[in-house]
Amino acid sequence: MADIRIVIRPLGDHPTIHFAAEELARYLGRMLGEGVPVVVQAAAQYEPAAQGNPAPEDLWLGIGTAIPQVRVPAVDDPALDDCIALDVRAGRGYIVGPNPRSVLLGVYRFLAEVGCRWVRPGADGEFIPRRGVEGLSARVCERASYRHRGICIEGAVSAENVAEIIDWAPKVGFNAYFTQFREAYTFFERWYTHRNNPTLQPEPFGVERAREYVVRAVQEIKRRDLIYHAVGHGWTCEPLGISGLSWESREYDLPEDVKQYLAEVNGVRAIWQGVPLNTNLCYSNPEVRRLIVQNIADHAQEHADIDVLHFWLADGANNQCECEACRKRIPSDFYVQMLNELDEMLAQRGLKTRIVFLIYVDLLWPPEVERLQHAERFILMFAPITRTYSKDFSVQNAEVSLPPYQRNQLQFPSNVDENVAFLRGWQRLFNGDSFDFDYHLMWDHYQDPGQMATARLLSRDIALLRAIGLNGFMSCQVQRAFFPSGLPMVVLGRTLWDAQLPFEEIAADYFRSAYGVDGARCQGYLAQLSELFDPPYLRGEEPQVSEQAAERFARIPEVVRAFQPLIERNLAAASDACRAASWRYLQLHADLCIRFAGVLEARARGEKERSLDRWQELVGMVQRQEMALQPVFDVFEFIETIGRKIS
Ligand SMILES: [Zn+2]
Repeated sequence: MADIRIVIRPLGDHPTIHFAAEELARYLGRMLGEGVPVVVQAAAQYEPAAQGNPAPEDLWLGIGTAIPQVRVPAVDDPALDDCIALDVRAGRGYIVGPNPRSVLLGVYRFLAEVGCRWVRPGADGEFIPRRGVEGLSARVCERASYRHRGICIEGAVSAENVAEIIDWAPKVGFNAYFTQFREAYTFFERWYTHRNNPTLQPEPFGVERAREYVVRAVQEIKRRDLIYHAVGHGWTCEPLGISGLSWESREYDLPEDVKQYLAEVNGVRAIWQGVPLNTNLCYSNPEVRRLIVQNIADHAQEHADIDVLHFWLADGANNQCECEACRKRIPSDFYVQMLNELDEMLAQRGLKTRIVFLIYVDLLWPPEVERLQHAERFILMFAPITRTYSKDFSVQNAEVSLPPYQRNQLQFPSNVDENVAFLRGWQRLFNGDSFDFDYHLMWDHYQDPGQMATARLLSRDIALLRAIGLNGFMSCQVQRAFFPSGLPMVVLGRTLWDAQLPFEEIAADYFRSAYGVDGARCQGYLAQLSELFDPPYLRGEEPQVSEQAAERFARIPEVVRAFQPLIERNLAAASDACRAASWRYLQLHADLCIRFAGVLEARARGEKERSLDRWQELVGMVQRQEMALQPVFDVFEFIETIGRKIS
């Protein structure tokens, strides 16, 4: 018998194609075992049957045009839009795409087609089956449903957490990563100082270390050719020499020559509630606009690795300048004016950086006079932060009229129809690129401990993005949103790639992969928990004192206890590290659910003191278990989010 081996041939010299080859070799090596060597041999160009090579073909990786006979589906923009064409038979064939990132996505897709699964980040999230060479066959020719498929840093994170999620993201189809603010300082600082967990020893944490971690994250992003998004808030304080590292409030004593630039609210020009990130400026002042625009252009020039730079005004709402000159226009008009000024400055400097502008709180109201001059420079980002997650993006009433703009007296809709009506208002003025910036996995998922309702809503919302005129989704979320399962994240990645994929199909596959033969029972159990915890209750959309709700919460402990023997059996029997970890997390989750149900039951019975006491016990439990939970669960953000609701 001739020696069987697999020869992976990356074409060209792009580092991501070589990385894709190394990844493919690594996973195939694990699938095939030691009997079948897998080697990587770079090639300058495609050779259909290399001379002296007994194999008719090797396994080629490259940009579509590098292999003449392969047809890659057409895309609008080959640098930004992803598609995959792969045809591999018994380990031989090709995997191509229009850009290096698509080639990497194609490698992971091929591995998924032959049985690999990545159910959460990290080594214990990989389910890698054994296969023979004959089992390594797949054909796929697909274009991604949406251009923008990203994850934005939030919550508390270690440098390792960030590296792991960037590594994981393209394995399920994501193509972009966003390190928020200049240094992402606050997210790292929360972890290393162990906020919300006095049982762990805090480390001193400075901004220099955050900068170093962002540099490392960018290396990982670039290694995979992911689209790199940066900054967001901060442009309203950094140009004045005031740093915007976090939302912490403190006192400021600023000189007059700085104060004159701040928004005047209630007759005072000051840092808004002690938080520079939340402080708007006096945008009618041309000097203010010049300072901001120049600062952004300088940043774009100094950071050539930023593909998409976000220019947002201050965070917070109803904090706009009330001076006479600013009152003449609504904030969106000044915003669009600055966006045009920025576009001009970037063009003068020959910079192609794309700029995201944000449709959010006060800026939901579309501009009355100004219009963007060069749509191709910009990406509209719709961030419906006040929406409810009890309802999907299907629009019931498209004719909702916008309320009038009333400076610093605005109320923001939770209703999805009204949010989409604001988006429509902007879309009438701007028909360029766009995406949704949304928060399903930022706070709201903590109100759904089974996370099946969250996963289902994500599936529906993503399928509906096209209908509301958006070309993708950037998920503003805790990075560790994989507890009890990674289903919501897998639904997010896979549905953004293929908006037609039915939720039930993804879920069934996920549970089988992550939990083995009892996967379907896990799915049923978590679905039951989602129902019993009734997320609209904690969203405050139902009466908080309610006999009916109390009875429902009271049933949770028995449901959990009835399931625990199955967890124990699977833990005792698990031979695969990935599935063992999945069951171990379910075991920790069972304890959390019993305690959480107790908190809510007392609340629904109107026993506030008892509810608070039980909450403190639950807080103690997650703090004690934090090191076991931390790869999948953001204890900081859980305590922060539910603590606000309970107290
Ligand atoms: Zn003003």
